[in-house]
Amino acid sequence: MNIFVCIKQVPATNKVQVDEKTGVLKRSGVAGKMNPYDLYALETALRLREKHGGTVTVGTMGPPQAQAIIREAYMMGADEGYVFSDRRLGGADVLATGYTLSQAIRSVGDFDLILCGKQTTDGDTAQVGPAIAEYLGIPHAAWVSRLEVRGDGVDAEQQLQDVVETVHMPFPCLVTVEQDIYMPRLPSLKKAREIGDKPVHVQGLESFLDQDESHYGLTGSATQVERIFPPQDDTEHEVWEDGNSAEKLKAVLKRWKFI
Ligand SMILES: Cc1cc2nc3c(=O)[nH]c(=O)nc-3n(C[C@H](O)[C@H](O)[C@H](O)COP(=O)(O)OP(=O)(O)OC[C@H]3O[C@@H](n4cnc5c(N)ncnc54)[C@H](O)[C@@H]3O)c2cc1C
Repeated sequence: MNIFVCIKQVPATNKVQVDEKTGVLKRSGVAGKMNPYDLYALETALRLREKHGGTVTVGTMGPPQAQAIIREAYMMGADEGYVFSDRRLGGADVLATGYTLSQAIRSVGDFDLILCGKQTTDGDTAQVGPAIAEYLGIPHAAWVSRLEVRGDGVDAEQQLQDVVETVHMPFPCLVTVEQDIYMPRLPSLKKAREIGDKPVHVQGLESFLDQDESHYGLTGSATQVERIFPPQDDTEHEVWEDGNSAEKLKAVLKRWKFI
């Protein structure tokens, strides 16, 4: 079974700036880490490979510095890793990100299963996985917390709001995983020694089937940020430091008719 795992580099700090003109994050020079949910997706892929054989390929759309998370994935056990990096891909919204990744995955090969994290900690939309599946024309299941291979496909247990639903999907298909699926392994020093300076494949738009630049990046995005600003802090507040806080809190709760 050949598995592709989508991983994204997210800022390792919440002190990031936004480009006022384009409304996108200024990622350059900001320390990055692998999106935590993608660690769960990668762990799932590695466990499936251990049980059923095959390969695990990881890929990310991002700046060249995103090679760091590919190396981390190698140290966890991924077989091959790709960074899809090209100035023309920058500033993509969900739609353009989903389209780019679908083209990128196609350019690498045929995969039985594509795994994504449930969401990222920066964009946080949880829409990229399903968008990739739509563009590839394959079935998908989101928020999956249990995944088993059965026959020609997978059984995926989805954590929906009020119910747990199990669906069977034939290969090829895409799954986005929840954090309780498996505990991710740590990158291993032994693996780091084994892989040495194993190369990371870096490729841009020239490797995609669709080379029309207007389908990618800011120009290929259906949405654009008009203005970014911090919310106005106009909430009234009082600080009580005289040791009589419980009585004061009770009086406020009564005044607001909470009690
Ligand atoms: C300041 C700011 C403004 C934004 N404004 C808009 C806007 O106006 N309209 C809009 O549509 N979006 C907007 N976004 C979202 C932004 O475009 C997203 O970061 C991008 O589309 C990826 O979506 P996501 O991070 O929400 O991914 P999610 O859908 O939350 O990610 C789910 C999974 O998809 C995979 N994945 C996601 N991105 C990548 C990647 N680059 N490479 C590999 N795998 C990936 C990972 O497996 C991830 O766990 C904004 C983001 C920011 C920070």
